Amino acid sequence: MANWTTGSSRPKNHLADYTLLLHLLGHWNLDPKPLLNNYMMMKVVRKMVSILDQRFQDAEQRFFEVMYGTKKSCTPRWKLCVSDTDSALGFALGALFVKASFAEDSKAIAEDMVAEIKRAFEDSLQYVGWMDPETKEAAKEKADAIYNMIGYPKFIMEPKELDKVFNDFEVVSDHYFQNVMQYYNFSGRVTADQLRKAPNRDQWSMTPPTVNAYYNPTKNEMVLPAGILQAPFYNRAWPKALNFGGIGVVMGHELTHAFDDQGREYDKDGNLRSWWRNSSVEAFKKQTECMVEQYSNYSVNQEPLNGKHTLGENIADNGGLKAAYKAYENWVQKNGEEAVLPALGMTNHQLFFVGFAQVWCSVRTPESSHEGVITDPHSPSRFRVIGTVSNSHEFSKHFNCKVDSPMNPRKKCELCEGGDAWCDVITYDVGLPIGAGVRRCFPNLSVLPDCWRRQQRHVERSVLSWSKMTLNPPAADGKH
Ligand SMILES: [Zn+2]
Repeated sequence: MANWTTGSSRPKNHLADYTLLLHLLGHWNLDPKPLLNNYMMMKVVRKMVSILDQRFQDAEQRFFEVMYGTKKSCTPRWKLCVSDTDSALGFALGALFVKASFAEDSKAIAEDMVAEIKRAFEDSLQYVGWMDPETKEAAKEKADAIYNMIGYPKFIMEPKELDKVFNDFEVVSDHYFQNVMQYYNFSGRVTADQLRKAPNRDQWSMTPPTVNAYYNPTKNEMVLPAGILQAPFYNRAWPKALNFGGIGVVMGHELTHAFDDQGREYDKDGNLRSWWRNSSVEAFKKQTECMVEQYSNYSVNQEPLNGKHTLGENIADNGGLKAAYKAYENWVQKNGEEAVLPALGMTNHQLFFVGFAQVWCSVRTPESSHEGVITDPHSPSRFRVIGTVSNSHEFSKHFNCKVDSPMNPRKKCELCEGGDAWCDVITYDVGLPIGAGVRRCFPNLSVLPDCWRRQQRHVERSVLSWSKMTLNPPAADGKH
C-alpha cells in the first residue's frame, strides 16, 4: 500500500524479498545460513526488547542513540501506553477516539472534498498530451471506481461486532509481556486465516486514531482514518484554503497513487493487469524521468536522495498538490472568494500553499535523516515541499517568485502539461538554537526548524480570530 507518511508503502512480497536476499548473499560470496539465522534473531530481539524490563530498555536506548540520534526515555510513558494499545486493540481504542473527537458530519464533509478532488483530477486528464484517448478513458473509469473509506469502519461502533473481532484474543490482567505475545499469535492467526479468501472491503489496514492515509492498489481503495481529519490537516472552522492545502493535498496524493509507477499496473478492480496502451506506458516513463532527475539533485547532509526509489511518492505529491489546488479554484468559482485572514497579509491562494507546507514542518536528527534517505520511499519533508512547489506555476504566480529563484526553476516536471521572500521562507531554512530539554532527547541535534514558531502560531492565532468573527463557535461538546 502506498501511504502518506512513513512505513511500508507497497503490498509486501516476502518471497521476493527473501529470494533477493539469497541472491545478494550469493553475490557477495557469503554463507547465507549463519547470516539468515542472525538476521532472524535480530528481528526477534528488536521486536521483544521494548516489552521487556529496564535492563533491556537501557540497551535499546543505546541502540536508539546510535541508530536515530534520539533517546527512547524521552517519550512520555502515556505516549508509549497509547501507542501499544493502538497496536493491539486499535479498533476498540478507535471507538473511544471517534466518540470523543470525530464530529458526526466530518465524514460527509470529507467525502464531498474527495469528490471535488477526484473531479479536478479527472478534468486535468484532458490536458495530458502524451496519453492516448483510450488510456485516458480507462484512467477516468479507474478514478471513478476508487472506493473511499473515511473515518472508521462501521463495526467499531457496534459493541457486539467489536467483541466478535477480538473474541480469540485472550488478555490476562497484570501480565504485559504475555499479553503482547498472545496478541502476536492472535494477529498471526487472523492474517493466516485470510489466505485464499475473497478480499474483505471493510478491512482497514490503519486504525481510526492513526494520523496517516493510504491507497491500496489491490482493492483500488483510498483510506483516510479519523486521525488525519484534524489539525494541522483539517478543521471545519478553518478557511477552505487551509483545508484544501492540508487534507485536500493528502486526498489528491492518495488518488494519484492509483496512477503512479506501480499503481498504474493495477486495473480498476485491483487486478494486476496492464490497461495502458504501450505508447502511453513509454510516454509515461519518459515524462517521469524528469522527476527522477529533479529529486536526485536534492540532498540531506550532503547525501543525495534516490530519485528512482522515491518516484512513486513524488508523483503522488506533485499530482496531489495540483489536484487539490484545482479543486480549491473550482470551489472558489462556485462559492466566491472567502474572507481573508486578518494580520497575515496573505491572499487565500498563498494561504493554500502555506497550509500545505506547514503540514511538513518537522525536526529530524542526522541519523534518522540518513536512515530515511536509504529506506523511505517518501522524500524527506523538506523536499516534499520544495520539490512540489518548484513544479507549480500557480505557486510562483501567487508568491511572485522570479524565474530561476530557488523555488521557481525554469525547468518544471509535470505529468499534466498544462525578492521572493516567501519563496525562501516557506522552506525550513532558518534554524533555532536548541534548549537543554530538547538536547537531552536529541543529543546530536544542533538546530530546530523555526517554521512552527514563525508560521504556525501566527496562522493559528489569525485563524482563531477569523473564525470567531465569521463563523459560529464550535459545538458545546467540544467536537470540531
Ligand atoms: Zn504516498
